[in-house]
Amino acid sequence: MTVSRYHRQSILPGFGHAAEARLAAAHVMVVGCGALGCPALDLLARAGVGRLSIVDRDVVELTNLQRQTLFAERDVGRPKAEAAADRLRAVNASLRCEAICEDLTHENAEALIRPHPRPSLILDCTDNFATRYLLNDLCVKHTLALVYGGAVATRGTQLTIIPGQTACLRCVFPDAPPPGEAETCDTAGILGPVAAIIGATQAADAIKLIVSPAALSGTLLSFDLWANQRSRLDLHAARDPHCPCCAQRRFDFLSGAYGDAPRVLCGRNSVQLHAAHANGGPEMDRLHARLASAGTFTRSTAAISGTLADGTPLAVFADGRAIVGNTTDPAAARAVYARYVGA
Ligand SMILES: [Zn+2]
Repeated sequence: MTVSRYHRQSILPGFGHAAEARLAAAHVMVVGCGALGCPALDLLARAGVGRLSIVDRDVVELTNLQRQTLFAERDVGRPKAEAAADRLRAVNASLRCEAICEDLTHENAEALIRPHPRPSLILDCTDNFATRYLLNDLCVKHTLALVYGGAVATRGTQLTIIPGQTACLRCVFPDAPPPGEAETCDTAGILGPVAAIIGATQAADAIKLIVSPAALSGTLLSFDLWANQRSRLDLHAARDPHCPCCAQRRFDFLSGAYGDAPRVLCGRNSVQLHAAHANGGPEMDRLHARLASAGTFTRSTAAISGTLADGTPLAVFADGRAIVGNTTDPAAARAVYARYVGA
């Protein structure tokens, strides 16, 4: 008799053959294949989740290797979703893994969950608020569990949203911070172990959702790994009876009410975009200070403009509009905006 590759998992309380079969039948969609997506995907592939869909708009960069554990030096320049899928297929040959090298937007979000067998749940491993609120709308509207994770600097946040049972993202964080206010990994840095803990916690909640939902904590976990602080907030008590999303079923982000689609500026090799935010433009002084650490920028009344350290021209206007140069690819422009302006 041969020992199953899942033996050390299947002898855990509550596991066994039935749990193994549920994992094999599950389809998990992971949006964002960076610091959080890498450890989460790796653990889910090894745990025997049958099908993984990876959505990511970026390519692997050298600075990713400090924490993005699915990639090696040879992957620099490759689309992340593709490089990750190759690695995961090598880890577990029985895995069905699909790389979706696309920018998740309000225009394609619903189509992405339709043509496939519908995912059992979605992991939010993204790095920007526009996509996070969009995923919250998508999951509440379609009653899909959403496993949220966030990590920046030395701090991590994780919660699992079960529509109809727990608070949703907008119950807990009613508005995204204004553009330029939130720290990003590109301006504030990220401690690798913080991302690994959050990604692993997301994988654990995904496994619980598939095998034994009663084991979920129903809390918002926050910690600062450097300051040794940790807290948990009860998500059942945090439901907002007036929440625009889960109570009123108004899906502002999914309907495109916040933020115009990025627009390629003809003949200028640049893309204009608008922050997906309800509260107007950025706080210009703070944003200028942060951009100054990422490149060379000057400030006027109406705009902050200059170039990032890699030579990419970037201008951010007081109304929240931005122009990203050296590209005609809206997804690339949105990625630059999310990384340096942070919305
Ligand atoms: Zn809500």
